[in-house]
Amino acid sequence: MTDEDWMQYAISLAEKAQQQGEVPVGAVLVKDGKLLAEGWNQMISLHDPSAHAEMQAIRAAAAAEHNYRLADCTLYVTLEPCCMCAGVMVHSRVKRLVFGASDAKTGAAGSVLNVVQQHQFNHQLVVEAGVLAEECGAQLSNFFRQRRAEQKKLKQSRSAN
Ligand SMILES: [Zn+2]
Repeated sequence: MTDEDWMQYAISLAEKAQQQGEVPVGAVLVKDGKLLAEGWNQMISLHDPSAHAEMQAIRAAAAAEHNYRLADCTLYVTLEPCCMCAGVMVHSRVKRLVFGASDAKTGAAGSVLNVVQQHQFNHQLVVEAGVLAEECGAQLSNFFRQRRAEQKKLKQSRSAN
């Protein structure tokens, strides 16, 4: 499996999030070329502001490994991680981060901050940005466009009554 293959898999998990009414972000953790764990956004359904796709994948991977360290793992995620998720990647010693779309508003892997490559910290990740970026970005922008259209429709139907 190539980076693109794993990202494609993460995109399918993001789709799952979208079907559950969540912002479509998906993540997978891979070790020795094998799938270790997967995650998708579940903040709304779990009433948990920390249930980002990466957090879900990291929690599941650590449980599966019986280890809070995830050295030698690669995390694939469709959207650049936020500072919380980037922080957990440092704590869990994830080796490599591969992400799709950049996030100019909350990205903590180079866009706003670079938590995953902070020299003062005791661990830095190898980062690969922009893998299937267009596809990952389109998935998000389509979701938000659709949501805006639905909200507009709702508003119009309310004012018509
Ligand atoms: Zn996050």
